[in-house]
Amino acid sequence: MDLYEYQARDLFEAHGVPVLPAAVMQDASEAAEAATRIGADSGGVVVVKAQVKVGGRGKAGGVKLARSPEEATQAANDILGLDIKGHTVGTVMIAQGAKIAEEYYFSILLDRSNRTLLAMCSKEGGMEIEQLAVERPDALARVAVDPLVGIDDAKAAEIVQEAGFDSDHDEIASALKKLWKVYQEEDATLVEVNPLVKTEDGQILALDGKVTLDENADFRHPEHADLVDEAAADPLEAKPSPRA
Ligand code: GDP
Ligand code: MN
Repeated sequence: MDLYEYQARDLFEAHGVPVLPAAVMQDASEAAEAATRIGADSGGVVVVKAQVKVGGRGKAGGVKLARSPEEATQAANDILGLDIKGHTVGTVMIAQGAKIAEEYYFSILLDRSNRTLLAMCSKEGGMEIEQLAVERPDALARVAVDPLVGIDDAKAAEIVQEAGFDSDHDEIASALKKLWKVYQEEDATLVEVNPLVKTEDGQILALDGKVTLDENADFRHPEHADLVDEAAADPLEAKPSPRA
């Protein structure tokens, strides 16, 4: 099951991955109040983001910066109802705006062909991973991860080194270890952060997340049932709901 960005963000927060405050809504009338609350200590800048389970929202007009409650309302109005690659936007997330100095890429996923896990990391994030893999393959580090060991101090240091980061090694390694906790403790098959950013004041933050949960492990996670999006679920795959 693929999660929405806001659901991934909430899982990140629960596992200590640094994220920014955010609110989720289906109606633009709630945007001004949320923007005021969330933007209060960041110079009023917020980001209004379409919640659809597809990448490239930014280029499709689904990610807009807003500098006032009025702009946030306008952005939410513009984005709600938008069609992004066949997905109609019914929900927006308003997040505190980050002052981005650098954009990085990180993911961990199941590498079925090699029966192992693969971590991918780049200090050239922001663009889509498929594009990065094709245009700048040397800039994308690929590091095998033993599922029984995971991303411990040594593996985090290896990934940071392979990706060629020249500063902030400890902060980035710390974020990677927490993202491993998300992968392991939530029984995910994919955790992707694009971009993982460094802000102008030196913080490392997960600004956009994608998480896929392993449905075969649902029995271990009754709380994951709340993440199922009934409206967007494929009716052919929908399971009968329990009778009261
Ligand atoms: P995607 O296009 O679906 O991957 O959506 P993202 O959430 O990754 O946003 C796309 C781009 O918008 C990012 O790569 C950033 O360049 C920009 N962006 C997202 N959030 C912020 C923010 O808080 N501040 C600024 N300045 N830019 C942002
Ligand atoms: Mn992204």
